[in-house]
Formats: sequence, C-alpha cells, structure tokens
Amino acid sequence: GSLPGHDDVEAALDAAYERFRDLDDGVVVEDVPALADADPDLFGVALVDTAGAEHVRGDARHRFTIQSISKAFVYALVCQEIGHDAVLERVGVDNTGVPFDSVLAIEHDEGHPMNPMVNAGAIAATGLAPGESRAERWDFLVRGLSRFAGRDLAVDDAVYRSESQANQRNEGLALLLEGHGRLSGDALGVVDAYTRQCSLLVDARDLAVMGVTLANGGVNPLTREQVVDAPIARDTVSVLTSTGMYERSGEWLFEVGVPAKSGISGGIVMVSPGKGAVGTFSPRLDDAGNSVRGRRACSHLARSLGLDLFASR
Ligand code: GLU
Repeated sequence: GSLPGHDDVEAALDAAYERFRDLDDGVVVEDVPALADADPDLFGVALVDTAGAEHVRGDARHRFTIQSISKAFVYALVCQEIGHDAVLERVGVDNTGVPFDSVLAIEHDEGHPMNPMVNAGAIAATGLAPGESRAERWDFLVRGLSRFAGRDLAVDDAVYRSESQANQRNEGLALLLEGHGRLSGDALGVVDAYTRQCSLLVDARDLAVMGVTLANGGVNPLTREQVVDAPIARDTVSVLTSTGMYERSGEWLFEVGVPAKSGISGGIVMVSPGKGAVGTFSPRLDDAGNSVRGRRACSHLARSLGLDLFASR
C-alpha cells in the first residue's frame, strides 16, 4: 500500500500536532548540562514521503543535537562500507533489555556487543568507519550522515565539549571492547568520533528526510542520491524494529508497530518502508529516554496513516 492522499496526510499531521502540543508529561534530560537547557515546550512534527513530498508542523525547523539517532545511520554507512556479514561479526542485532549505556551489552557474549543501537554496539560500529586517520574517519561519518539529510550537517560545539568532558562511561565501554579485541581503531579516538556524531545538529524535518532515505531503498528522495544500497537500508530498519527505542522497543512495537529510533535530546525518527518517514522533536522524555509527545504523535500517525506493520487492514 501507499500513504493516504495529500489532504488526509495534512489532517493527520494537524491532529498529531494539535492533540499533543500541550501535553507536559516527562522531563528534559539532566545528565548532559548542554542538553538540560533545552526549552521543554518545543514541539515539531515532520513527515516526508518516498516521493519527496514534505509536511511540517510546529518547531520542525528548530535544531537540536541528533544524539542516539545517529546510531541508525552510522550503522547503515558502515554496513554499506564493509558488508552485512562483516558488520554482524562485530555487532549483534538482539535487544539487550537494559539501559543504552550498560556494560551488559558487551559482557554477555565474550565482548561481542549485542546491538548497534546501544552505546557499546554503536561505538563498535563507529570504529568500523574507514580511513587512515581520525580526520579521515570523521569525514566519512559526517559526509555520510549529511547525504542522508541532503544537506551539510555541523557539530554543536557546546554540546560536543560538554559531553566530551563527562564521557567516562563511553570511554570505559570503548576500552572494554578494545580489551576484548572487538574494536577497530584507537578506543579514545573512536569515542571522540562517536561523541561528535551525537553532537550533529538536525531538525525534525531533517530526521524525516534521513528516515525516508531508509524507507526508500537507500535513495534520498529530495537529492535523488543513492546513499546506501537497498538491502542495507532494509537491514538497518530491521535492527531499529527490535532495538531502536531503548528498553521500550518491545512496547513501542506493540503500541505503535513501526520501526523507530529515539535520542535523549528529544528526537524520534519513525520509518515506514516504501511509504515515508516521520521526524519529531520534543525534549520532555519518559523514564526510558523516549520523547513523550513524540511517541504520542508517532502513535497517532501510525494509526491514522495505516503504517502499523502488523495490521492486516
Ligand atoms: N551522546 C549520548 C551518549 O552517548 C547519546 C545518548 C542517547 O541519545 O541515547 O551517552
């Protein structure tokens, strides 16, 4: 199937935005000082379909740091570079059931990180970026993420510095991976690249463009560039389905039924293969780190636009 017609999509966006814009459940993340300052009332919703048609509401052009959502696209980029099997050898695809920064993601299987959407596996994936130097590897990452977005993405220096100064947990995960022989490259250099990728500025509309590139066989429908091959886009969406929403990935699949990835700054990207993608931004989070308004808006859109993977009618 395809998305409903233009007017129905517009009406669904209106409802998803208006219904939840006054919802004030949840709290802005406190761990990262530079993120704790976010205006809790911001709310943006964007949808881009595989033909490239765009719909935006509210603060869909307000920029924030991409955080964990970068993990999905870096995973796609390194899979494209070294291939499905080689990546699977370095990073698994099973949900951990524990918080995103847990060391348990490494320790269950002789250092083989469980999936690329938790920090341990994401750091391992970032370590697979090709290049002779830190600068070349960063260039690969930022250029690849920018191709997904269809514009040149830039780092928020204040957030990057703030996260770099309190990065002991991620550095610990990287050193542990290195100790298990599971990391390519120097551990602290890889964490630095990972922290930079998390500090890239995007808006909800960028997330929808990045997501629709995965929904569209790896082709960005706005720039028409093939960013990754179709099987790689498919693999990435598959991993999001089981692991994208922290410890609530199962609940999300049950309640919303559409693959998605969230980040602690308040973004969510939701990918509907062959149809389109939704990007939302609202910094108030639930206790697992998922945006409260974003979740409600995604759930509403999934239902009203018929995106639920498991619904037969
Ligand atoms: N930069 C954050 C970290 O690695 C990202 C966390 C997130 O969005 O889940 O801790």
